[in-house]
Amino acid sequence: AVKRAGRRQVRRYHPQQDAATERFQVLARDLGHALARSELSLRFQPIYRLRDRRLIKAEALLRWTHPQLGPVPPGEFIPVAERVGLIMPVGAWVLREACRAARGWPGVRVSVNVSPVQLLQADFVATVREALDHTGLPARRLELELTETAVLYEDDRVARTLQDLRELGVRISIDDFGSGYSNLARLRTMPITGVKLDRSIIAGLSDHETGGFAHALTRAALDIAGHMRAELTAEGIEHPAQLEVLRALGCPLGQGHGLCPPVTPAELDALLAAPQPEIPSGS
Ligand code: C2E
Ligand code: MG
Ligand code: MG
Ligand code: MG
Repeated sequence: AVKRAGRRQVRRYHPQQDAATERFQVLARDLGHALARSELSLRFQPIYRLRDRRLIKAEALLRWTHPQLGPVPPGEFIPVAERVGLIMPVGAWVLREACRAARGWPGVRVSVNVSPVQLLQADFVATVREALDHTGLPARRLELELTETAVLYEDDRVARTLQDLRELGVRISIDDFGSGYSNLARLRTMPITGVKLDRSIIAGLSDHETGGFAHALTRAALDIAGHMRAELTAEGIEHPAQLEVLRALGCPLGQGHGLCPPVTPAELDALLAAPQPEIPSGS
């Protein structure tokens, strides 16, 4: 049997907490080798122009298949990577791989999730520039997704970094908008090009109980994005009814399992090889 590191230090009051601590330690240890052992991969979820279902961009989503544990969700291992300082090498790898893949998708943008821990590193802008230089992807085809908390972090470094990224020509989106605390007045001053409306709001659009409020939130988000000259993307579209409402409200972009799940780079190639809709169906 494998001897588990640090076991003796853990007080055994709560068996569940004990198991969680142990899993954290296993993930932290093995994530260190995951890159070298090619256990990490990217999936890409298409983002469509809702008006005519044209594929506009693709969001890179990180996957880790652990040799013993199987797939570990990013919601679990990203926080581990942040805590133990592995988010920098992992994040740099994601940036480079996403840019490399997007190089083969002319006219399609790629969006990459960036952790607040990465954003606060002094060399983050250099890492982004390196990924672009190395792959030859034009900066205007790269978008970075940051959470509200990261963008609104009360630190001059963040504003400076965002400005430098915009000067490079990279686009910046707020991820999961509407899911947390937002200082809207401060958000207004940030160089944002996109807003992604959290899927918890989209989920409400097809619910008879909360539908009215979800409509109001969506209209408000469209209005706010419009004022910031930012493009709105609806996340987590699962049902045709949600798609219809979003189209009727004039939401420009959307993604979700109802449109297309995250796919491999080869599958995205195939999607792009199929004829793309050219003619807007409405207005
Ligand atoms: P996110 O950026 O909000 O990504 C969207 C998540 O929603 C993805 O989960 C995607 O698979 C999922 N999703 C897409 N369509 C639907 C839908 O219709 N219904 C539902 N229920 N879910 C849908 P995933 O891939 O598990 O990623 C979870 C989170 O992990 C991401 O949330 C992002 O915050 C983080 N993440 C993923 N990849 C990276 C990465 O490379 N770097 C960093 N820093 N974070 C990442
Ligand atoms: Mg995202
Ligand atoms: Mg999101
Ligand atoms: Mg989300």
